[in-house]
Amino acid sequence: MTARRIDGSAVARRVRDDVARGVAELVAAGGTAPGLATVLVGDDPASEVYVRNKRRLSTEAGMVDHHRHLPGDVGQAEAEALLDDLAADPAVSGILLQLPTPRHLDSDALVARIPAEKDVDGLSTLNAGLLAQGRPGLRPCTPAGVMRLLAEHDVDLAGAEAVVVGRSPLVGKPMAQLLLGQHATVTTAHSRTRDLAAVCRRADVLVVAAGIPNLIGADAVKPGATVVDVGIHRGEDGLHGDVRYDEVAEVAGLLTPVPGGVGPMTIAMLLANTLAAARTQQGHDG
Ligand code: NAD
Repeated sequence: MTARRIDGSAVARRVRDDVARGVAELVAAGGTAPGLATVLVGDDPASEVYVRNKRRLSTEAGMVDHHRHLPGDVGQAEAEALLDDLAADPAVSGILLQLPTPRHLDSDALVARIPAEKDVDGLSTLNAGLLAQGRPGLRPCTPAGVMRLLAEHDVDLAGAEAVVVGRSPLVGKPMAQLLLGQHATVTTAHSRTRDLAAVCRRADVLVVAAGIPNLIGADAVKPGATVVDVGIHRGEDGLHGDVRYDEVAEVAGLLTPVPGGVGPMTIAMLLANTLAAARTQQGHDG
Protein backbone atom coordinates (compact mmCIF):
# COMPACT_ATOMS: atom_id res chain seq x y z
CA MET A 1 0.00 0.00 0.00
CA THR A 2 1.19 3.54 -0.64
CA ALA A 3 -0.29 6.11 1.73
CA ARG A 4 -2.28 9.09 0.54
CA ARG A 5 -0.41 12.26 1.50
CA ILE A 6 -2.29 14.79 3.61
CA ASP A 7 -1.65 18.25 2.15
CA GLY A 8 -1.56 20.46 5.25
CA SER A 9 -0.49 23.52 3.26
CA ALA A 10 -3.64 23.36 1.12
CA VAL A 11 -5.98 22.85 4.11
CA ALA A 12 -4.22 25.67 6.00
CA ARG A 13 -4.72 28.00 3.03
CA ARG A 14 -8.46 27.23 3.05
CA VAL A 15 -8.67 27.88 6.81
CA ARG A 16 -6.84 31.20 6.40
CA ASP A 17 -9.16 32.19 3.53
CA ASP A 18 -12.18 31.37 5.74
CA VAL A 19 -10.67 33.48 8.53
CA ALA A 20 -10.07 36.40 6.13
CA ARG A 21 -13.71 36.22 5.06
CA GLY A 22 -14.79 36.08 8.71
CA VAL A 23 -12.69 39.16 9.53
CA ALA A 24 -14.28 41.08 6.63
CA GLU A 25 -17.76 40.02 7.80
CA LEU A 26 -17.04 41.10 11.37
CA VAL A 27 -15.93 44.55 10.20
CA ALA A 28 -18.88 44.83 7.78
CA ALA A 29 -21.23 44.03 10.69
CA GLY A 30 -19.89 47.03 12.62
CA GLY A 31 -17.18 45.23 14.61
CA THR A 32 -13.48 46.03 14.63
CA ALA A 33 -10.72 43.98 13.00
CA PRO A 34 -9.20 41.41 15.40
CA GLY A 35 -5.84 42.41 16.89
CA LEU A 36 -3.12 39.83 17.56
CA ALA A 37 -0.32 40.59 20.01
CA THR A 38 2.62 38.23 19.55
CA VAL A 39 5.14 38.64 22.38
CA LEU A 40 8.73 37.60 21.70
CA VAL A 41 11.34 37.66 24.45
CA GLY A 42 14.97 37.56 23.31
CA ASP A 43 16.48 36.70 19.93
CA ASP A 44 16.11 32.95 19.43
CA PRO A 45 16.32 32.60 15.61
CA ALA A 46 13.69 29.80 15.34
CA SER A 47 11.23 31.76 17.53
CA GLU A 48 11.85 34.88 15.42
CA VAL A 49 10.90 32.96 12.26
CA TYR A 50 7.72 31.55 13.87
CA VAL A 51 6.64 34.98 15.13
CA ARG A 52 7.39 36.66 11.80
CA ASN A 53 5.18 34.12 9.99
CA LYS A 54 2.36 34.54 12.51
CA ARG A 55 2.46 38.33 12.10
CA ARG A 56 2.59 38.19 8.29
CA LEU A 57 -0.31 35.74 7.97
CA SER A 58 -2.45 37.57 10.54
CA THR A 59 -2.15 40.87 8.66
CA GLU A 60 -2.81 39.05 5.37
CA ALA A 61 -6.08 37.86 6.94
CA GLY A 62 -7.02 41.49 7.74
CA MET A 63 -5.99 41.50 11.41
CA VAL A 64 -4.08 44.25 13.23
CA ASP A 65 -0.52 43.49 14.35
CA HIS A 66 0.24 44.43 17.99
CA HIS A 67 3.60 42.66 18.16
CA ARG A 68 5.89 43.35 21.15
CA HIS A 69 9.56 42.41 21.39
CA LEU A 70 11.23 42.34 24.80
CA PRO A 71 15.01 42.08 25.37
CA GLY A 72 16.31 38.63 26.40
CA ASP A 73 17.33 39.95 29.84
CA VAL A 74 13.94 41.50 30.69
CA GLY A 75 12.81 41.00 34.27
CA GLN A 76 9.77 38.95 35.30
CA ALA A 77 7.89 42.01 36.60
CA GLU A 78 8.44 44.01 33.43
CA ALA A 79 7.31 41.10 31.21
CA GLU A 80 4.21 40.59 33.38
CA ALA A 81 3.43 44.33 33.21
CA LEU A 82 3.55 44.22 29.41
CA LEU A 83 1.14 41.25 29.35
CA ASP A 84 -1.16 43.10 31.77
CA ASP A 85 -1.20 46.10 29.39
CA LEU A 86 -2.11 43.88 26.45
CA ALA A 87 -4.75 42.12 28.56
CA ALA A 88 -6.38 45.50 29.31
CA ASP A 89 -6.19 46.84 25.74
CA PRO A 90 -9.56 46.44 23.98
CA ALA A 91 -7.86 46.57 20.54
CA VAL A 92 -5.98 43.35 21.38
CA SER A 93 -8.18 40.29 20.81
CA GLY A 94 -5.50 37.64 21.22
CA ILE A 95 -2.15 37.39 23.03
CA LEU A 96 0.47 34.83 22.09
CA LEU A 97 3.58 34.52 24.24
CA GLN A 98 6.16 32.75 22.06
CA LEU A 99 7.63 29.81 23.96
CA PRO A 100 10.14 28.87 25.15
CA THR A 101 11.01 32.08 27.00
CA PRO A 102 14.56 32.62 28.38
CA ARG A 103 15.31 30.36 31.35
CA HIS A 104 15.39 33.08 34.02
CA LEU A 105 11.68 33.79 33.40
CA ASP A 106 8.81 31.83 34.95
CA SER A 107 6.81 31.15 31.77
CA ASP A 108 3.87 29.57 33.65
CA ALA A 109 3.48 32.80 35.64
CA LEU A 110 3.66 34.81 32.40
CA VAL A 111 0.99 32.68 30.69
CA ALA A 112 -1.15 33.16 33.81
CA ARG A 113 -1.31 36.92 33.05
CA ILE A 114 -3.12 36.22 29.77
CA PRO A 115 -6.91 36.30 30.29
CA ALA A 116 -8.62 33.11 29.08
CA GLU A 117 -10.66 35.01 26.47
CA LYS A 118 -7.44 36.34 24.86
CA ASP A 119 -5.47 33.09 25.28
CA VAL A 120 -5.31 32.18 21.57
CA ASP A 121 -2.68 29.49 22.24
CA GLY A 122 -5.18 27.69 24.52
CA LEU A 123 -2.54 27.27 27.23
CA SER A 124 -4.16 28.97 30.20
CA THR A 125 -5.33 26.86 33.11
CA LEU A 126 -8.94 27.84 32.43
CA ASN A 127 -8.88 26.84 28.76
CA ALA A 128 -7.05 23.60 29.60
CA GLY A 129 -9.73 22.87 32.20
CA LEU A 130 -12.56 23.61 29.78
CA LEU A 131 -10.99 21.20 27.28
CA ALA A 132 -10.57 18.53 29.96
CA GLN A 133 -14.27 18.89 30.77
CA GLY A 134 -15.25 18.86 27.09
CA ARG A 135 -16.68 22.38 27.28
CA PRO A 136 -16.19 25.16 24.67
CA GLY A 137 -13.02 27.24 24.93
CA LEU A 138 -9.93 28.26 22.96
CA ARG A 139 -8.00 25.11 21.99
CA PRO A 140 -4.23 24.74 21.58
CA CYS A 141 -3.47 25.45 17.92
CA THR A 142 -1.39 22.40 16.93
CA PRO A 143 -3.80 19.70 18.18
CA ALA A 144 -6.74 21.74 16.84
CA GLY A 145 -4.97 21.78 13.48
CA VAL A 146 -4.53 18.00 13.58
CA MET A 147 -8.27 17.59 14.28
CA ARG A 148 -9.07 19.80 11.31
CA LEU A 149 -6.80 17.72 9.03
CA LEU A 150 -8.52 14.51 10.21
CA ALA A 151 -11.97 16.04 9.63
CA GLU A 152 -11.05 17.30 6.16
CA HIS A 153 -9.98 13.77 5.22
CA ASP A 154 -13.13 12.15 6.69
CA VAL A 155 -11.12 10.07 9.15
CA ASP A 156 -13.64 8.18 11.23
CA LEU A 157 -12.84 8.74 14.91
CA ALA A 158 -15.90 7.36 16.72
CA GLY A 159 -14.82 4.06 18.24
CA ALA A 160 -11.43 4.17 16.49
CA GLU A 161 -8.23 3.21 18.33
CA ALA A 162 -6.17 6.40 18.59
CA VAL A 163 -2.63 6.50 19.97
CA VAL A 164 -0.92 9.81 20.79
CA VAL A 165 2.84 9.68 21.33
CA GLY A 166 3.78 12.51 23.71
CA ARG A 167 2.04 14.06 26.72
CA SER A 168 3.15 17.70 26.73
CA PRO A 169 0.63 20.36 27.82
CA LEU A 170 1.07 22.06 24.42
CA VAL A 171 0.51 19.08 22.13
CA GLY A 172 0.14 15.51 23.43
CA LYS A 173 -2.28 16.02 26.31
CA PRO A 174 -4.76 18.32 24.53
CA MET A 175 -4.47 16.10 21.44
CA ALA A 176 -5.61 13.06 23.43
CA GLN A 177 -8.50 15.04 24.93
CA LEU A 178 -9.68 16.32 21.54
CA LEU A 179 -9.63 12.78 20.12
CA LEU A 180 -11.54 11.56 23.17
CA GLY A 181 -14.07 14.34 22.56
CA GLN A 182 -14.68 12.80 19.13
CA HIS A 183 -15.28 9.38 20.74
CA ALA A 184 -11.98 7.70 19.86
CA THR A 185 -10.55 5.08 22.23
CA VAL A 186 -7.38 6.94 23.19
CA THR A 187 -4.03 5.71 24.46
CA THR A 188 -1.28 8.17 25.37
CA ALA A 189 2.26 6.84 24.96
CA HIS A 190 5.29 8.68 26.32
CA SER A 191 8.95 8.35 27.20
CA ARG A 192 8.29 5.63 29.81
CA THR A 193 5.99 3.53 27.62
CA ARG A 194 7.15 -0.07 27.27
CA ASP A 195 7.29 -1.46 23.73
CA LEU A 196 6.24 1.74 21.95
CA ALA A 197 5.99 0.01 18.55
CA ALA A 198 3.48 -2.55 19.89
CA VAL A 199 1.32 0.19 21.41
CA CYS A 200 1.44 2.24 18.20
CA ARG A 201 0.54 -0.78 16.05
CA ARG A 202 -2.90 -0.82 17.75
CA ALA A 203 -3.71 2.58 16.29
CA ASP A 204 -6.17 3.31 13.53
CA VAL A 205 -5.09 6.92 14.08
CA LEU A 206 -1.52 7.56 15.25
CA VAL A 207 -0.43 11.08 16.21
CA VAL A 208 3.27 11.42 16.95
CA ALA A 209 4.51 14.40 19.00
CA ALA A 210 7.60 13.12 20.80
CA GLY A 211 10.22 15.46 19.39
CA ILE A 212 12.53 12.53 18.52
CA PRO A 213 13.62 12.41 14.87
CA ASN A 214 12.77 9.13 13.07
CA LEU A 215 11.20 7.60 16.20
CA ILE A 216 8.38 5.86 14.32
CA GLY A 217 9.08 3.34 11.57
CA ALA A 218 6.95 0.92 9.57
CA ASP A 219 7.09 -1.67 12.39
CA ALA A 220 5.00 0.70 14.57
CA VAL A 221 2.19 1.23 12.05
CA LYS A 222 -0.91 -0.85 11.43
CA PRO A 223 -1.59 -1.36 7.71
CA GLY A 224 -3.97 1.33 6.46
CA ALA A 225 -3.63 3.54 9.57
CA THR A 226 -3.76 7.34 9.49
CA VAL A 227 -0.44 8.73 10.71
CA VAL A 228 0.04 12.37 11.71
CA ASP A 229 3.58 13.60 12.34
CA VAL A 230 3.77 16.66 14.60
CA GLY A 231 7.56 16.59 15.08
CA ILE A 232 9.74 19.27 13.53
CA HIS A 233 13.52 18.91 13.32
CA ARG A 234 15.79 21.21 11.38
CA GLY A 235 18.56 19.20 9.71
CA GLU A 236 21.23 20.31 7.26
CA ASP A 237 19.10 18.85 4.45
CA GLY A 238 15.85 20.54 5.55
CA LEU A 239 12.97 19.76 7.93
CA HIS A 240 12.15 16.28 9.24
CA GLY A 241 9.55 14.83 11.56
CA ASP A 242 9.33 12.07 14.17
CA VAL A 243 8.11 9.59 11.53
CA ARG A 244 10.27 7.84 8.90
CA TYR A 245 8.12 9.08 6.04
CA ASP A 246 9.31 6.83 3.19
CA GLU A 247 8.99 3.52 5.00
CA VAL A 248 5.76 4.41 6.82
CA ALA A 249 4.22 5.52 3.50
CA GLU A 250 4.45 1.87 2.40
CA VAL A 251 2.18 0.77 5.28
CA ALA A 252 -0.08 3.67 6.27
CA GLY A 253 -3.31 4.68 4.52
CA LEU A 254 -3.00 8.43 5.11
CA LEU A 255 0.14 10.29 6.17
CA THR A 256 1.23 13.88 6.82
CA PRO A 257 4.57 15.03 5.41
CA VAL A 258 7.10 17.28 7.15
CA PRO A 259 7.20 20.04 6.01
CA GLY A 260 3.74 20.76 4.62
CA GLY A 261 1.68 18.76 7.11
CA VAL A 262 0.82 19.91 10.64
CA GLY A 263 3.16 22.96 10.67
CA PRO A 264 1.07 25.26 8.43
CA MET A 265 -2.09 24.22 10.31
CA THR A 266 -0.75 25.55 13.60
CA ILE A 267 -0.65 29.16 12.36
CA ALA A 268 -3.98 28.78 10.54
CA MET A 269 -5.67 27.65 13.77
CA LEU A 270 -4.03 30.54 15.66
CA LEU A 271 -5.75 32.92 13.23
CA ALA A 272 -9.05 31.03 13.64
CA ASN A 273 -8.72 31.31 17.43
CA THR A 274 -7.96 35.04 17.19
CA LEU A 275 -11.07 35.63 15.07
CA ALA A 276 -13.18 33.54 17.46
CA ALA A 277 -11.80 35.52 20.43
CA ALA A 278 -12.56 38.86 18.73
CA ARG A 279 -16.11 37.77 17.86
CA THR A 280 -16.78 36.72 21.46
CA GLN A 281 -15.28 39.92 22.91
CA GLN A 282 -17.32 42.05 20.52
CA GLY A 283 -20.56 40.12 21.01
CA HIS A 284 -20.66 38.89 17.39
CA ASP A 285 -20.45 35.16 18.02
CA GLY A 286 -24.10 34.33 17.58
P1 NAD B 1 7.96 18.07 24.55
O1 NAD B 1 9.42 17.81 24.54
O2 NAD B 1 7.36 19.04 25.48
O3 NAD B 1 7.20 16.69 24.78
C1 NAD B 1 7.62 15.50 24.16
C2 NAD B 1 6.79 14.34 24.67
O4 NAD B 1 7.23 13.16 24.00
C3 NAD B 1 6.94 14.08 26.16
O5 NAD B 1 5.66 13.98 26.72
C4 NAD B 1 7.67 12.74 26.27
O6 NAD B 1 7.15 11.90 27.29
C5 NAD B 1 7.44 12.12 24.92
N1 NAD B 1 8.59 11.33 24.50
C6 NAD B 1 9.89 11.70 24.54
N2 NAD B 1 10.68 10.70 24.10
C7 NAD B 1 9.88 9.67 23.80
C8 NAD B 1 10.11 8.35 23.35
N3 NAD B 1 11.33 7.91 23.09
N4 NAD B 1 9.05 7.55 23.16
C9 NAD B 1 7.79 7.98 23.41
N5 NAD B 1 7.52 9.24 23.86
C10 NAD B 1 8.54 10.07 24.06
O7 NAD B 1 7.61 18.45 23.02
P2 NAD B 1 6.29 19.14 22.38
O8 NAD B 1 6.28 20.59 22.66
O9 NAD B 1 5.08 18.33 22.72
O10 NAD B 1 6.64 18.95 20.83
C11 NAD B 1 6.82 17.67 20.26
C12 NAD B 1 7.35 17.83 18.85
O11 NAD B 1 6.39 18.53 18.09
C13 NAD B 1 8.65 18.63 18.74
O12 NAD B 1 9.41 18.09 17.66
C14 NAD B 1 8.18 20.00 18.36
O13 NAD B 1 9.15 20.72 17.63
C15 NAD B 1 7.00 19.67 17.50
N6 NAD B 1 5.98 20.72 17.45
C16 NAD B 1 5.48 21.00 16.22
C17 NAD B 1 4.49 21.94 16.09
C18 NAD B 1 3.95 22.21 14.73
O14 NAD B 1 3.38 23.26 14.50
N7 NAD B 1 4.08 21.27 13.81
C19 NAD B 1 4.00 22.62 17.21
C20 NAD B 1 4.48 22.28 18.48
C21 NAD B 1 5.48 21.32 18.57
